[in-house]
Amino acid sequence: QKITAACKLDSPPKSGASPAPTAASTEKVSGKVGVILPDTTSSTRYTTYDQPLLQKALSAAGITPDIQNAQGDKNKFASIAQSQIGGGAKVLIIDSIDAASGAGVEKQADSAGVKVIDYDRINLGGTAGYYVSFDNEDVGKLQAQTLVDCLDKQNVKKPTIIMMDGGTDVDNNAVLFKKGAHEVLDPLVKAGKLKIEQEAVVKGWKVENAAPTFTQALTASGGKVDGVLAANDDIANAVIGVLKNQGLDGHVVVTGQDSGVEGIQNIITGKQSMTIFKNVKDEANAAATLAIALIGGKDPSSAGLTLTKFDDPQDASHNVQALLLPSQVITQANVQDVIDSGALTKDEVCKGI
Ligand code: BGC
Repeated sequence: QKITAACKLDSPPKSGASPAPTAASTEKVSGKVGVILPDTTSSTRYTTYDQPLLQKALSAAGITPDIQNAQGDKNKFASIAQSQIGGGAKVLIIDSIDAASGAGVEKQADSAGVKVIDYDRINLGGTAGYYVSFDNEDVGKLQAQTLVDCLDKQNVKKPTIIMMDGGTDVDNNAVLFKKGAHEVLDPLVKAGKLKIEQEAVVKGWKVENAAPTFTQALTASGGKVDGVLAANDDIANAVIGVLKNQGLDGHVVVTGQDSGVEGIQNIITGKQSMTIFKNVKDEANAAATLAIALIGGKDPSSAGLTLTKFDDPQDASHNVQALLLPSQVITQANVQDVIDSGALTKDEVCKGI
């Protein structure tokens, strides 16, 4: 039986999270905002989506943001934060490399009276008052459910799965993706309907380790694999490269996340089965709207944001208000949705394929 990765589900699984706030803030304020992104290598999202969209959302409010990327270097992250705090930032929007160093930055900000928004990744055990992200457990569920549905549609009996988790050692999002995926897969394993042959971690989301990690997992599974739950598109792409060497690319169901150009192209060419579209425009707009409200000393709800308490499992006294956005499953059937949303252009997506 030959599996195909191209997955055209009639009705792909849908996010259970609440819809995004409808509009970006139109209010104008003055005040400096510092933004720090983690790296440029673990996902293309930071340069393709987050950087320009945060720039746009914050500039629209009259703020000239200082947006920097720490390039995976924790010391650099801390020194950027230090200079932003010293330069008079009123709010920091941070997407940390790891929770411990992120929490360190928050402490510094706190003692200087600077408010912090944890952007995309929460720093558990930290002191930030706000957290803007997607419903990350839901992302993991959607990946796993689509994987199962794609295999099911092809009548694959008791499929063998390899899980390729992301940086569960550094990033609570990765922990939540994994948790969500297991919620879907574990009951099937128990019922004898699916086998998780291997579960490997690409530590620190270091994408250069993804191919060797998958090669090892594939060898350990005796070369047998029907589906790979890859945590994001960059890991998926490394997996596809390894599968290609075995003549298996296009014949294993592979998940992803981020709707990067490469991920979408791998879907169009039938090597990757799905990706998750997280509309970063909504995430950037929500973070900007929140930052603007905080600078103006306003309650976020007056800016149209509904925040809910997030329980920090590492510190029950950590009072953090969260906004968690829904995401969308993308397969070959609805790639156009990503283009229609304005996230990528048709030219970008079609170039070179
Ligand atoms: C983000 C993902 C990204 C991953 C690696 C996660 O925290 O939510 O979108 O793929 O980090 O950068």
